[in-house]
Amino acid sequence: MSTVSDFFGSMVFDDRVMKAKLSESVYKSLKKTIDEGAKLDISVANAVAEAMKEWAVSKGATHYTHWFQPLTGITAEKHDSFISPAPDGRVLLEFSGKELIKGEPDASSFPSGGLRATFEARGYTAWDPTSFAFIKGKTLCIPTAFCSYGGEALDKKTPLLRSMEALNKQALRILRLFGNTDVKVVKTSVGPEQEYFLVDKELYDQRPDLIYTGRTLFGSLPPKGQELDDHYFGVIKPRVAAYMEELNEELWKLGVLAKTEHNEVAPAQHELAPIYATTNVATDHNQLTMEIMQKVAAKHKLVCLLHEKPFAGVNGSGKHNNWSISTDSGQNLLSPGETPYENAQFLLFLVAVIKAVDDYQDLLRLAVATAGNDHRLGANEAPPAVVSIFLGDELQAVLDAIEADTPYDGTEKTTMKLGVHVLPRFQRDNTDRNRTSPFAFTGNKFEFRMLGSSNSIACTNIMLNSAVAEALKQFADELEKADNFDSALHDMIRRTIKDHKRIIFNGNGYDDAWIAEAEKRGLENLKTTPDAMPKLLDKKNVDMLMSHKVFSETEIKARCEIMLENYVKTVNIEALTMLDMSRKMIMPSVDEYIADLSETAYKKNSIGVSYAYEKKIIEKLSVLLEKIDAATDELGVAVAEYKKIEDVMESSAFIRDEILPKMEALRAPADEAESLTAEKYWKYPTYGKLLFGVR
Ligand code: ADP
Ligand code: MG
Repeated sequence: MSTVSDFFGSMVFDDRVMKAKLSESVYKSLKKTIDEGAKLDISVANAVAEAMKEWAVSKGATHYTHWFQPLTGITAEKHDSFISPAPDGRVLLEFSGKELIKGEPDASSFPSGGLRATFEARGYTAWDPTSFAFIKGKTLCIPTAFCSYGGEALDKKTPLLRSMEALNKQALRILRLFGNTDVKVVKTSVGPEQEYFLVDKELYDQRPDLIYTGRTLFGSLPPKGQELDDHYFGVIKPRVAAYMEELNEELWKLGVLAKTEHNEVAPAQHELAPIYATTNVATDHNQLTMEIMQKVAAKHKLVCLLHEKPFAGVNGSGKHNNWSISTDSGQNLLSPGETPYENAQFLLFLVAVIKAVDDYQDLLRLAVATAGNDHRLGANEAPPAVVSIFLGDELQAVLDAIEADTPYDGTEKTTMKLGVHVLPRFQRDNTDRNRTSPFAFTGNKFEFRMLGSSNSIACTNIMLNSAVAEALKQFADELEKADNFDSALHDMIRRTIKDHKRIIFNGNGYDDAWIAEAEKRGLENLKTTPDAMPKLLDKKNVDMLMSHKVFSETEIKARCEIMLENYVKTVNIEALTMLDMSRKMIMPSVDEYIADLSETAYKKNSIGVSYAYEKKIIEKLSVLLEKIDAATDELGVAVAEYKKIEDVMESSAFIRDEILPKMEALRAPADEAESLTAEKYWKYPTYGKLLFGVR
């Protein structure tokens, strides 16, 4: 038996392999590119490509692909084999530096939001050397960014890398002000905790809603749900354990640091958390994780549901984006250091995050806005749609003391002056209530909890990095001009706390009273995707994102359109699926049951026996059937109307205001009918079977 350390990263062209397979000079230049973003020479690229190919072929690979993350939110790949014909009829296995650096997939079928007219369908992919290449199946996958010929980003990776660069630039300015001249790069790191459901494949295959939309559109609740809290951290069932074991192995081979696994709150719900990595690597790894989760599930005759809300009435699935900023020398800038000076630096970064989250709460909200996640946010299981920050009591006391210029009684009873006192280490607050906060400080990092389980973490981190870069920029602009750095710093921290404390909320985020309070504080409550997404086009947001070169204006417009289109199309597919299920499965099921009951009633009557029971059920079901029929027709009419709307802003509002309520109006009588109909008549498996079927 091989041990984990033997096969960990065995399918990754990582630093170990590079060191072993590349000449010293090639290795050094490549490292310079990876660590410091230095430009890569073509001769170096050729040498790297050759080494990559040899390594990949020795591992059984026959093809290579530029692996990228288009705006569909999933990953894309187009495979080319290494073979190239030799004059004597043999084939040679070739892979050049040019092929490594640049690819030209046909881009016409990926969403571009009008960025690229279809007649100029070519886009190109560019190697991201900071994320290791890996082998999946028989294919060498090269992580890349995906752009149009005009250079506009058509993917999620490019703006993510740009946002990391923006934050690096501004954070370095701040560090220099603190006299730090050694640090070369500042990077953000992320550990995304991933929730998911597992259901039996055979049952899944009988539900058109799961197949077409990833979530159940109908289904009455089983007698048991999650109320006993017996699933969370419970014993993992054998089939699930076998799945998790294989999943871990596959992820480890790919160098993904899968670390923690446990059952989640809802039945059939689980979580996987990796050890954190640099943001772009973490993003690649999270995409890979979601893909491998689904592949491994299929091998176990299971289906992994990554939808945010697969089942009504039990918790949906989210993703927690644990985020921090650190230097190449290994210092976590969100961790209070050992000396007062480090503390002051920590406080400055801390208030920069507070300011960023307050100033750009709308960007953080819209980064997680999808049709699926709309079912979670604010539904008493996930943080509300209102963005706020949790700091915990200790840190709150420090900020209060600074703001009021009063003694901080953490350690000493003297006025809190920066650069004088040593701060305590802040423990992560273990109280349950901090789980209700959308954005919580957890000791040395922030945990953003609004992401849906299927979201790419790129979107969140693009906005977070950019917003923090902007706050740091404003700070640096002012501090660089200051005559007295210490007093300017103190004033700035105090002022920032005063100006932005409205975003801090340490109470229960699930409480309705908080939503009212948040409104009073002037915080945004963007409940749905059509409410949130257009905010991307607000001048303050466009200006900020452009000034840090994260997006161009056309890229921003395109993204807004694509995300709204995605929302509209997703719900439209759901509505069509409901119409189909209602007409072809639900109403026929009810009718068949009524027919059999009627026959029984008729027979009973003929021998002079009471048929009151049958009559009662028939009457109830007949009323429901009429309601279902009427609601189906109404939804059908609305869907036809929606098709006539061309403008995506308008159609997304129509979906929110007309289609979604009509879907609910259809679901209610259908679910009630299900609960009254004998199970053998029902044409798709129940919630009970789906949620408790995997043993
Ligand atoms: P738990 O939530 O089980 O108490 P942690 O808080 O240590 O565990 O970690 C939760 C997630 O946060 C993990 O994915 C972990 O890798 C990640 N994480 C820990 N430290 C950092 C950091 N400095 N930057 C980003 N993510 C981090
Ligand atoms: Mg967590």
